[in-house]
Amino acid sequence: MEDSRYCDLHIHTIFSDGLYSPEEVVRKAKELGFSAIGIADHDAVAGIEEAMKIGEKLGIEIIPACEFSCVMEDKDIHILGYLLDYKNSTLKSFLKKVQDKRIERAEKIIGNLSKQGIKIELKRVLEIAKNGTVGRPHIAQALLEEGYVSNIEEAFMKFIGYHCPAYVPKMEISPNEALQLIKDFKGIPVLAHPISYDFEKIIFPLIKMGILGIEVYHPEHTEYHIHYFLEIAKKYNLLITGGSDCHGGRKGKLFLGEIKLPYFYLEDLKEKRRQLFLDI
Ligand code: AMP
Ligand code: FE
Ligand code: FE
Ligand code: ZN
Repeated sequence: MEDSRYCDLHIHTIFSDGLYSPEEVVRKAKELGFSAIGIADHDAVAGIEEAMKIGEKLGIEIIPACEFSCVMEDKDIHILGYLLDYKNSTLKSFLKKVQDKRIERAEKIIGNLSKQGIKIELKRVLEIAKNGTVGRPHIAQALLEEGYVSNIEEAFMKFIGYHCPAYVPKMEISPNEALQLIKDFKGIPVLAHPISYDFEKIIFPLIKMGILGIEVYHPEHTEYHIHYFLEIAKKYNLLITGGSDCHGGRKGKLFLGEIKLPYFYLEDLKEKRRQLFLDI
């Protein structure tokens, strides 16, 4: 019989810049009929345990993941690490360092904004971020609250986007470092939303560096992109993944439920993990 199960391997929670708690994400995914979901916060694994607990109760499989930010060719590159050992204390302390640096960065961005007469408080940004990885979306929200912008997108356009004067880059880790980290913690590295990247400058070099999968299915991809990335996956023997990249409405739309990835892709991912790291 045909396997009708489906999954969404890319979801954010309040542990980075998503609006839902892990429990809310799991409940909503269950209502939408998903068999498995990937909790993939930016530079964080702290939401996974809560998701696992509630997942077990509701009978929905939780795939541990982390969306690592790295820099290449002066561009922010997102690499997903799937099925990594999220309980590993070395990984947790590395991510703690990244998160502390992100707080320092938020402070610098706020300082730059203040030079332009834009006053928001770090305290408020940290409150918005709750205990999660602090990012520009939280600064955007503070700008919105103070009435400096009328939506999140405008905050990125006017104040905190890459080309804006207040912009400050994150702690730089290279894709090679991210790939090594993911390998060290027994995860499978997958390039997130490849539509964001140039093939010659970014995607192809990453394939040569050892990325093992590509996120073919993503809400920003048209049929054309899906076809294009499927061809790339075939040509370079890459795993195929997909997810909604749901931020719980922070990006204007919910996205959860938009991508229903057939479960066999997840089986391929797990099989690869078994082949590479024989202990599970
Ligand atoms: P950061 O990691 O702090 O540099 O923030 C990057 C995050 O901001 C991305 O992962 C997105 O979630 C969000 N983001 C980036 N650009 C935009 C935009 N133009 N509008 C809304 N959200 C954005
Ligand atoms: Fe995000
Ligand atoms: Fe991303
Ligand atoms: Zn994401």
